[in-house]
Amino acid sequence: GATIGILGGGQLGRMLAQAAVQLGYRPIGYAPEGDNVADIVCSDFFANKWDHRAALAAFAEKCDVVTWEFENVPVEAAQAMPQDRIFPHPRALETAQDRLAEKRFVETLGGRPAPYAAVDSRADLDDAVERIGAPGILKTRRDGYDGKGQWRIESRSEAAGLQIPGTPTIYEGLVRFDAEFSVILVRGNDGEVRFWDSARNIHSGGVLVTSTLPAGPEVESQVEDARALARQVADALDYVGVLTLEFFAAADGPVFNEMAPRVHNSGHWSIEGAVTSQFENHIRAVAGLPLGDTQTVAAGTVMTNIIGKDIKTAHSQLGDSDTHLHDYGKKQALAGRKMGHITRLTRA
Ligand code: ATP
Ligand code: MG
Ligand code: MG
Repeated sequence: GATIGILGGGQLGRMLAQAAVQLGYRPIGYAPEGDNVADIVCSDFFANKWDHRAALAAFAEKCDVVTWEFENVPVEAAQAMPQDRIFPHPRALETAQDRLAEKRFVETLGGRPAPYAAVDSRADLDDAVERIGAPGILKTRRDGYDGKGQWRIESRSEAAGLQIPGTPTIYEGLVRFDAEFSVILVRGNDGEVRFWDSARNIHSGGVLVTSTLPAGPEVESQVEDARALARQVADALDYVGVLTLEFFAAADGPVFNEMAPRVHNSGHWSIEGAVTSQFENHIRAVAGLPLGDTQTVAAGTVMTNIIGKDIKTAHSQLGDSDTHLHDYGKKQALAGRKMGHITRLTRA
């Protein structure tokens, strides 16, 4: 079969590679040396620096199509791929890598983020906290994930005492929400869009802990508006593949948090819980195959991340019916690190 290149070597890349193999493709990976868990699934794996031009060119040479699994893949690496054979188009990476650019872009499409201000200096932070108020969160504009590069600010005096990082940041007002949810869609190369059901997401310390379906009325009443925005974002980017938008369900409607131009942790339930998983549909989209049905299959679905502990502690749960374990094969259970997840379905 054809070769699908994946930029990035984490668990999302691994699950994409598994779906690619299932559909008869040869997945090959590219990621910096070190902690790659996608490499064992891939037919070939390039462990090299993101800015190694010759290695990127050799990788591109082997690929019929290229995609990515991580939104912090340097745009230059994506741009080094053949631009008519990389999906989604790297413009989606460019937008999503900078929290400021992303919020401005989504606002032009009618989306409503939390109040925010760019912060590049101490004076900017003072002004931002003065205008937006506290509590709030200072976030690095680039490179953050799983709550890394974020500082919660409870008061003006706390802001005054904070050592601001040397990189550009953004200050956001804290949103009072009833629930968090994400909209996950797949868009085909003909512009067809399909949505998975939106799960209720619970985070701890900025890291996703559970995604649950049904999501409950606080979420369900806001999904239609949130989907309309997500579809506009996908259309505006002429997006091909799986796209995720995270939202807060607030009293006055959905507040846009951030987007991820990729498959998403809050969609892992779809492997067993939907007719077609986010991984399979992403591969179908980038390979130009017809999209699969995104329908939820069970009455209830709960995905629980296994974070910072030995995956074997979850083995005992496999005695429960309709319970499925995904072990990402990471060696060290460092604090906050996603080691795997468990999905439990409840049939009506
Ligand atoms: P991801 O791994 O999802 O990319 P991230 O590091 O980009 O995470 P965010 O999504 O910005 O982080 O924030 C992580 C979590 O922190 C959110 O899901 C939410 O629970 C909380 N949070 C972030 N910003 C706000 C806000 N403005 N108001 C309230 N809660 C927030
Ligand atoms: Mg993020
Ligand atoms: Mg997030």
